[in-house]
This record gives sequence, C-alpha cells and structure tokens, in this order.
Amino acid sequence: MNIGWRFDNSYAQLPHTFFASMALNPVEEPKLVILNEQLASELGLSAVALQSEEAVQEFAGNKEPVGSSPLAQAYAGHQFGHFNMLGDGRAILLGEHITPDNERVDIQLKGAGRTPFSRGGDGRAALGPMLREYIISEAMHALGIPTTRSLAVVTTGEAIMREYALQGAILTRVAKSHLRVGTFQYAARWGTEEELKTLADYAIQRHFPMIQNEGNRYIKFLEYVIEKQAELIAKWQLVGFIHGVMNTDNMTISGETIDYGPCAFMDKYDPQTVFSSIDTHGRYAYQNQPNMALWNLARLAESLLPLIHHDSAQAIKMAEQALQQFPKLYEANLFAGMRLKLGLLTEETQDIELIDELLQWMKVNEADYTNTFRALTLGKFEDNPVFQLETFVQWRQKWQERLQRQTQSLELVQRTMRQSNPAIIPRNHRVEEALDLASEGNLKPLQQLLKVLAQPFAYTAEQEMYATLPPASSCAYRTFCGT
Ligand code: AMP
Ligand code: MG
Repeated sequence: MNIGWRFDNSYAQLPHTFFASMALNPVEEPKLVILNEQLASELGLSAVALQSEEAVQEFAGNKEPVGSSPLAQAYAGHQFGHFNMLGDGRAILLGEHITPDNERVDIQLKGAGRTPFSRGGDGRAALGPMLREYIISEAMHALGIPTTRSLAVVTTGEAIMREYALQGAILTRVAKSHLRVGTFQYAARWGTEEELKTLADYAIQRHFPMIQNEGNRYIKFLEYVIEKQAELIAKWQLVGFIHGVMNTDNMTISGETIDYGPCAFMDKYDPQTVFSSIDTHGRYAYQNQPNMALWNLARLAESLLPLIHHDSAQAIKMAEQALQQFPKLYEANLFAGMRLKLGLLTEETQDIELIDELLQWMKVNEADYTNTFRALTLGKFEDNPVFQLETFVQWRQKWQERLQRQTQSLELVQRTMRQSNPAIIPRNHRVEEALDLASEGNLKPLQQLLKVLAQPFAYTAEQEMYATLPPASSCAYRTFCGT
C-alpha cells in the first residue's frame, strides 16, 4: 500500500545532545479509532491506504514507515515555575513529512511507549485524553487558531494503569515542528554554545527562513517568536480558550498551540477561570495567559543571550527591548480581534471602553462568553432573560450608535461578525459526552461533534443543540492532568 509518506529527517541531523534514537515499542492489538481524512489529503497521503492494516501498524508504532527515523526529543522546561529536565517521555518523532506544497511537518506518535526521557512514567496514553486532544486541536484549527493537528488515533489493545485501568491509545500528531521554549532552555543549560547556535539556526531555517542570512539574526528570531506568541495568545483570549498548562515545554517556537492536556473553553465570562485540577493557584487562569506567555518568552530570551550579543549586559538590554514589545503586540492583536467581534470596522478611541463595558457586564451577570457574541451576531436576544436586563439594553444602544457612526454597510458588519464570532465551541459537557461514549465503542457522537466543530462560523440549524449550555450544576468543571 502506498500511503504517500515523503520523509526527510532534518532534526535527526542535529547534534546527538538533542535527541535519543529510538526503536519503536510495539503494542499488542492496534485498532484504528479515528482518521482525519481531510488532513490526510492536505498532507498528500492516501486516505484509502491509511485505512489499511499496514497504516494502522504504523500509527501504533508497530512498524516504521519507510523513510522515517524514530527518535525522542530532549527538552527541559519550567513546570508551574520549576525548572526540570523533561524530554519526550511518551512520544516518538517518526520524522518530517514533506507535503505536496513542500511544507515540512513533524509526524509524532504520542503515547508510543517508554523512551530514555520517561523517568517514572509508562510512556503510554489513555484513549480519552488522546481523543480529547484530537477534538480540541481540530476545533482550534477550524477556529483559525495555529495549532498542532491530529491525524489519527488508534487503541493499542493494552490496558494502562492510572487511577484505574484505561484503554491505551496513540495519537498521531502533526506539527510545524516540536521545537519548544524548553528545547532552548535545554540547550542553554546542558549544551555547548555551538550546539545552542546550531539549534537556533535550525529553528530559524525551519520557521523564519527570511532572516537566516542576517548577521544579527538571533535577536530577530526572538522578536519573531514574541510576535507569533502575541498573535496566538490574543486568539486564545478572543475565543475564551484556556490552555491549562502553559509550562515552557508546552510553548512552541512556531507559534502553534501544543499539548492539549487540561485545557477547556470558558463558558460564563470570568477572567479568573481555571479548569485544571492541578492549577491550584490559578497560575494559568484565563486572565494570566498573556503574562505567562511573556514569562515563558523571557525564559527563551535568557536562553538565547549568549547568541544575541557577546557582551552580556548588551545582550540583556536587547532582549529586554524585544520582550517589551510583547504587551503592545498582544493588545493590538486583542483589540483588533475584539473590534471585529463587535463589527467595528473603523477605530475610535472609546472602542476600548465599549469593549470593556461589555466584558464587565458579562462578568457581573455571569453571561456566557461565546453565546453573548453569538446573540449580538444574530441579533437574537429573546431566548435568554439575561439579555432583557436594562444594563444590557443600554449597552446595546451605545453599541448601535457606535455602529451608525461608521459608513460601512450593515451587511458587511454582519458578515464580519459571523466570521469573527464562532457559533459553537467545544463545550465541555459535549466533549465529555462524546468521549464517554467513544470509550464504550460508540463513535457516532464523536464524529457528529467533529463535523459540527469543523465549521464554527457556519451558523447552521444543526449547530443549535451544540450551542446550549449544560444544565446548571453546582460543581465547576474540572479537567485532569492524569493523562
Ligand atoms: P505534558 O504534561 O504532557 O506536557 O508532559 C510533561 C512531561 O512529562 C513530558 O516530558 C512528557 O513526556 C512527560 N510524560 C507525560 N506523561 C508521561 C508518561 N505516561 N510516561 C512518561 N512520560 C510522561
Ligand atoms: Mg508537554
């Protein structure tokens, strides 16, 4: 069967400090659970061949795809502020596949067994969390947010032990690269300066080739990563996405969202929202995400100092200047996005106030974030008593007056709002319901959910039931890291 792989493994050419070559860890009885046919086609792979037994063996790590060069990547990271040596403890990078558009993407098996970086872990992953990453990453992609993608999930036929026995599973993850802030921290701490430089040049060549011939490219590199992250975090905030574990090892150099552990979308608007059960201090709460991104970027900057300038005082000064741009870039992205969410096609200085008043109103009245923008987009306020409140009517009045001060047609305003406000997001209760049924072998609700989430801006009747909130519950939704 010709699956269509075109492997070319540049990471494996880096100094050995950066990885451990791997033999695969076969599993007992692999079975395909889900395949992303659309992504397969974008990658130039044959969806038919990917259904074959041979492909399932490859997704399970039982057979090496032709041209692959399996390895586990070394990296470090600050986890909740504490520095640790980490590395791929349960993931194997098969190599880089070259797409028909000549783009280079990492193909990684997550949950593929023990590696030299596994520490005490079993190297395995459970079906629920792997399907969860599949759902959320694909939903993020459809929302227009840079993210790693999910090509397939297989079960391994082996049980894994967590609090109780769970079905083992492997996710095939596709990424622009798996270079992380933590990869640079690792190089800075344990590599030579030459190795750090090699890594930085490699990252530049892969992600920012336009600066590869510049003399002062390392400061430019830092600036580009800062810019990408400012764009990314603004996009998260605009849809109410909470990553949950913004450790430096979970922040990419490419600007893609990575590692969907205890992440979730906010329902009612509350900047202090935290979902992760292990984030007891709210370090990675919704409102802290921009600051935490900046904190992580400062760790990247520190790692790059020896390359930025040979005089360390000068290097620090340059890095600080670059980092100072982050809040400005982030806010510019955030307000540009917020304006579009409200259909504001011109700029007025009071727009920030108008936006803040709406957010404040949502907070005070515990209004649902997504559905408030959805209601504004549809101009449909009858079905929820919260929108009948005098305070909301007054805000709407102000907003209407603001819209009338711009010359753009109402039609364009509405189109803009539809393109900027998702009609649906992966609601926690819907995701959990689909995962529960999938673990019992019923994949229909999962497939239906994926279909709906693939078109978040479509505003179809079919989506209505996915926009509804869960029945009121006294206990807050919690996501768990025990993946
Ligand atoms: P994560 O929370 O998924 O970002 O993982 C943090 C670190 O723990 C990474 O180095 C992972 O490779 C490692 N890790 C997570 N789960 C396992 C596991 N089951 N076995 C071995 N290592 C793991
Ligand atoms: Mg991680």
